[in-house]
Amino acid sequence: MTGTTLDDYTDRYARRVRGMTASEIRALFAVASRPEVVSLAGGAPYIAALPLDAVGEMLGSLAADHGTSTLQYGIGQGTLELRERICEVMALSGIDAAAGASPDDVVVTVGGQQALDLVSRLFLDPGDVVLAEGPTYVGALGAFQSAQAQVVHVAMDSDGLIPAALEAAIAEVARSGRRAKFLYTIPNYQNPAGVTLSDARRDEVLDICSRAGLLVVEDDPYGQLSFDGETPLPLRARRREGVFYLSTFSKTFAPGLRVGWILAPHAVREKLVIASESQILCPSAYAQAAVTTYLSTMPWREQIKTYREVYRERRDALLEALTDLMPPGTTWTRPNGGLFVWATLPPGLDSKAMMPRAIAARVAYVPGTGFYADGTGGGNMRLNFSFPTPERIREGVRRLAGVMEQDLAMRQVFGAISAVASRRRGQAGADTPGPDLA
Ligand code: PMP
Repeated sequence: MTGTTLDDYTDRYARRVRGMTASEIRALFAVASRPEVVSLAGGAPYIAALPLDAVGEMLGSLAADHGTSTLQYGIGQGTLELRERICEVMALSGIDAAAGASPDDVVVTVGGQQALDLVSRLFLDPGDVVLAEGPTYVGALGAFQSAQAQVVHVAMDSDGLIPAALEAAIAEVARSGRRAKFLYTIPNYQNPAGVTLSDARRDEVLDICSRAGLLVVEDDPYGQLSFDGETPLPLRARRREGVFYLSTFSKTFAPGLRVGWILAPHAVREKLVIASESQILCPSAYAQAAVTTYLSTMPWREQIKTYREVYRERRDALLEALTDLMPPGTTWTRPNGGLFVWATLPPGLDSKAMMPRAIAARVAYVPGTGFYADGTGGGNMRLNFSFPTPERIREGVRRLAGVMEQDLAMRQVFGAISAVASRRRGQAGADTPGPDLA
């Protein structure tokens, strides 16, 4: 090294780099993964639920017996075998040939994350607006921000995105002279809110978007992880034009393989492949062969059932612990699938400010601020239930409740001190400024 400091580079960064900041989740990873910390922070699937011996054998033979193809370059769009399998997977959710799904329009990606980056590259110019649920997936915010787009959040309730709020946001963006390119939505078991867009609202959302000329980017990593009944039909199964369907094998099989996909409108598919080739040349032939072989030789539907059962039990453990232990005034969502619960703290508590005390108490969560582009969300936190065992979940909530009680008690003390101080000020003269204790 020549003694160059980081500061020497700041003037040279491209403009798009200015919006790049470390996500709150990534910053937490190092501390949250210490064994003494109960981490309700991550979003990791419970990989120990996989038949690892059988998967290991399959992976070994892919190199030993088929290495001349699996360790070779492949084509940019992804192998036809995998794209065919992906169509079978999508058909289970209702996105089938009748809905216009075809292997020809599938592009294999390096996880869902590359799919998000690709749609951003294809459609977003600096200053363009993306409408997205508030809160929304932190990795999507990263992709949109590095395309220098602005994210306008649309409110949700327990039935997901609120159509009237979507209409209002579209009108507001139009009034401000900006251009909204697409709605980014996670309709099923949303990350981080855990809510699902109701069946009744789905056509309405599609209609609003087509009237406004907005594309729809439907991100669906969790649709198959339902606990209580059916997942509503995806947006892409209802409309084929203008809807991009993104998904991944990260939650139904294994994130370590980094295999996801986009089902794109036919006219766009070629551009997507060109954009992907300029990023990665081609997705990993080995990882694609692993997923294809897994889907054709192993009981993957059973595995999804196993994941659902494990997560349902853990969701129940989290909801029960929250009910038993959280201080009054705390509320939370009740997800019917997926990996996350979204909690709203009693008034006055700040999840970001509380984080160091939570880590000291050996529990981690993700502060709500990580899921908004505009820095709001301090009154919320995301709690993950897929990775820790039910016992650890309860212990984590017990620790968290203790930290929250302490913060609430501190607020009461500060409140009392500032009340005394302002009474004294009142005696000394109403306009005397006092110390800002509250
Ligand atoms: N979209 C959403 C909503 C997610 O929650 C995730 C993973 N946390 C992804 C996309 C990306 O997943 P991956 O890149 O692992 O496929």
